[in-house]
Amino acid sequence: MLPHGGLPEIFPPYLSDLIRRTGGPDGPIGRQFVSRPALERRFYKKGMKDPLMEDEHEVAPGLVYKYESNIHTKKKQFTYTGRALWTITRHCAAYCRFCTRGREVGIPAGQEGVSGAALSHTPHLLMDQIKETLAYIRKEPGITEIILSGGDPMTVHPDVLRFVLGELGAMQREGKLDIVRIGTRVPVHNPLLLRDVHFEAVRELRNPRVMVHINHPFELTPQTLGVLDRFRKECGAIVMSQSVLLRGVNDSAETLYTLFTKLAGAGVVPYYIFQNDRVYWASHFTVPMKRAIHIWQKLRPMLSGVAATARFVIDVPRGYGKVPLPEGNGWYVDYARGYRDFKGKHFALV
Ligand code: SF4
Repeated sequence: MLPHGGLPEIFPPYLSDLIRRTGGPDGPIGRQFVSRPALERRFYKKGMKDPLMEDEHEVAPGLVYKYESNIHTKKKQFTYTGRALWTITRHCAAYCRFCTRGREVGIPAGQEGVSGAALSHTPHLLMDQIKETLAYIRKEPGITEIILSGGDPMTVHPDVLRFVLGELGAMQREGKLDIVRIGTRVPVHNPLLLRDVHFEAVRELRNPRVMVHINHPFELTPQTLGVLDRFRKECGAIVMSQSVLLRGVNDSAETLYTLFTKLAGAGVVPYYIFQNDRVYWASHFTVPMKRAIHIWQKLRPMLSGVAATARFVIDVPRGYGKVPLPEGNGWYVDYARGYRDFKGKHFALV
């Protein structure tokens, strides 16, 4: 038995149907959602629960703020703008077995073995807690960007979503916030859940960024593409994709080529592909680093420039921020001798 009980298995009918049509539990969609208890508990003594140190940086209900906003030098203090991550719920429409926040999302109140910070809201923030966090954001001068992240913000009651986005939109208009991002996987888990009220709520923001988590081309169904289109056309959102490199799901240059090309064709900007975080329940999904780099370096020259906007990044355990991997050996630059294009032709630096 896992100390925290493990992520629940929840399959909206839409997702069950997609799993059935794409190879069942062992297909690339099924593997992301159907539990494998023996594998999920195999590494729990060695692996980590919170490699991104989110619990220790929770500064207000659900708000993780770990980026320093001040640099002190001998001569002066330099203040730069910073982003904070806010989880207003611990629920998602379905649960990804590799979830970085598996210590926290989907966990029922009172569950033993999770950290105190992870239980700061169970399961959704109460209105008093939402107001407390909004007040914190307002008074903290370093925060200029909010990332609403999973648990999935699109699963809260539409009135609550509208209130939160309305307040954040007001802070944008006042000049307090520059950017608000909404991280969601509802367009993949259950696009049928998204109705007019959700798009109206997103319209409260100025230039909303909708960061949709998509891992495999099979996830780009007509229903999913339809809601991504609505975010773009009805909300004026810039829709960007985030993917996780997962063994047995999308760990080939060909699969990622199809994914990024289809995303770009649908007007979605590929943004990040992550090496999966080293949480113990997801170790079996990890693609060894050397192989991950090989896939990335093979992929990059294959892509059109507009599909090659993603960066391959690692959230280094117990580090601050993401480390992007170089684009690879498709191209080569030697500042002394010249450079080489992706077909291997050499040019002198002039
Ligand atoms: S949608 Fe995001 S937060 Fe929810 S289970 Fe999947 S990865 Fe985790």
